[in-house]
This record gives sequence, structure tokens and C-alpha cells, in this order.
Amino acid sequence: MSEDTIFGKILRGDVPANIVYEDDHCMAFKDMFPAAPMHILLIPRKPIARLCDAESDDQSLLGHLMLTASKVADAQGFGDAYRLVVNNGEGAGQSVFHLHLHIIGGRSLSWPPG
Ligand code: AMP
Repeated sequence: MSEDTIFGKILRGDVPANIVYEDDHCMAFKDMFPAAPMHILLIPRKPIARLCDAESDDQSLLGHLMLTASKVADAQGFGDAYRLVVNNGEGAGQSVFHLHLHIIGGRSLSWPPG
């Protein structure tokens, strides 16, 4: 269950994190192994393992995450050049099975990603 992931522990305060934003529905903190000068993870408090496990009831939560990602990027000084990434499943590089948005910026980002 995703409650038992490292992100569940961060949400519960059992593991420290560099938290930059939180509200009733989500929390954002700095990635421990940043892939760019600016790399924040935004997670819902609800323990959804993967994006594909989200249900229609989660629609407003998913919308809230998108809007919050934009707000966090602005507050953290990403300007208007940043990328949101959701790795869904092991084959796509997901290593922590608690849904999270990577907010990445602070350098030029090429496309397509690897
Ligand atoms: P993903 O590979 O998409 O599942 O992303 C998981 C991300 O979590 C990686 O970028 C890791 O660097 C990051 N990460 C893992 N453990 C921690 C932690 N304790 N604090 C902050 N970031 C973490």
C-alpha cells in the first residue's frame, strides 16, 4: 500500500523532508536527488499508488494537484519554464508507489525525454 512508502512516512512526519508547500490535500517537498537545479515533488495526501489507480472520484484532487504545481513553481521562482512529469509504473521509471508530480526546472530541458 502506498501509505507505507517513503512518501507516506514524509506525510506522517516520520521521515524529514524539505517541505515547500502543504495544504489539506497535498504536500510539496524538494527531491532528495534533484534531476535539475529546481526539482520539487508534489504528492496528494490520499495514498493513490499510480496515476492509473486514480478514479473518477479523484478528478478534483487531480485538478488541484495541477493548479498547485503551477502555484508552487511560481512561488519557487521557476518562472514560466518548467516541466511536470508523472512516471506511471515501473517500466516508466516509477520507483515510489505514491502518486507524485515532479516539478522540474532551472535549466534548459530537451525533448523528447529519455
Ligand atoms: P519516481 O522515480 O518517479 O517514482 O520518483 C521518485 C522520486 O523520489 C525520485 O526522484 C527520488 O529522488 C525521490 N525521493 C526518494 N526518496 C526521497 C526522499 N526521502 N525525499 C525526497 N525525495 C525522495
